[in-house]
Amino acid sequence: MKIITTILGDIAPSELGFCQSHEHLCIAGTGNFPVKGEERIDDPEKSREEAALYRKAGGDALVDAQPVGCGRGAVMLRDISQKSGIRIIASTGFHKMIYYPEGHWIYTARTDDLARLFIEELREGMYLDGDRAYPQKKGIGRAGQIKTALDSEGLTPRYQKLFAAAAAAAKVSGCALMVHIEKGSDPLGLSDYLFKQGLALERLIFCHLDRAVADTAVHRELCARGITLEYDTVGRPKYHDDDREAALITEMLEAGYEKQILLSLDTTRARLRSYGGTPGLSYILESFIPLLRRRGISDSQIGTFFKENPARIFAKTNKPKNFNEVS
Ligand SMILES: [Zn+2]
Repeated sequence: MKIITTILGDIAPSELGFCQSHEHLCIAGTGNFPVKGEERIDDPEKSREEAALYRKAGGDALVDAQPVGCGRGAVMLRDISQKSGIRIIASTGFHKMIYYPEGHWIYTARTDDLARLFIEELREGMYLDGDRAYPQKKGIGRAGQIKTALDSEGLTPRYQKLFAAAAAAAKVSGCALMVHIEKGSDPLGLSDYLFKQGLALERLIFCHLDRAVADTAVHRELCARGITLEYDTVGRPKYHDDDREAALITEMLEAGYEKQILLSLDTTRARLRSYGGTPGLSYILESFIPLLRRRGISDSQIGTFFKENPARIFAKTNKPKNFNEVS
């Protein structure tokens, strides 16, 4: 049986509904984990309000892409989900090293320990701490996916260790592995590395190529390998306008990759309406989908991006495996 793990529990993939696959409703920072003022998303009331606006516009679910140990705020996410009715798929994993202060445990943790930590978060419950010292306090709600990040420094030994741990946890748990792709990094090289780790490339989601990789031949090659791409440069004129985003989506549809595209906004504090930002979490439903329709993208294709594809990629087989399988 296939299930999707949300922060409030497991659901059938068919229950997921309309889902934006890479968002942020909490980047709080606790202890000495530094989150700059303009990056903080830390007001439970405002984030709940944003989720309610999204629900009103027709949203059912979202993926919160902040991993453990960097201000994820599992309790805040759970409360937002309970109060707004929005299903949240939370993340374990790791972010770009630039976000972690000197001395953070992420730099010294061993591959095995990291893999176990990720698996515990997927199987038993997310940790409530870890921003400062190694996570100790078992919490509530399980993570539903592994979020990782490929930085422009490439697959240096420290990133190899992190990706090896994430791949091991993804293999054991069967969950999706999401990767932030930084401009100037090598996503094809990473896909080779993860393949060598024994990971099925169909379980991978590579994010932000619509602003990180201009050469669309790379997008097509990743899709040809089975990888799903998450695009989110929507309502972000500092990168490009929405017409250009629609043209990219059309190009990928013409190449035959309808089933490997996810769409989202990758919200920041400055882009959440309830924090005084723009365009808000409901922008896709209110403005971008109408634009896609005007550009000739069908309702069936739109349903594939926001319902069918998330329901498939975030689903995993519900069969118990034990931790000894991590090697
Ligand atoms: Zn993000």
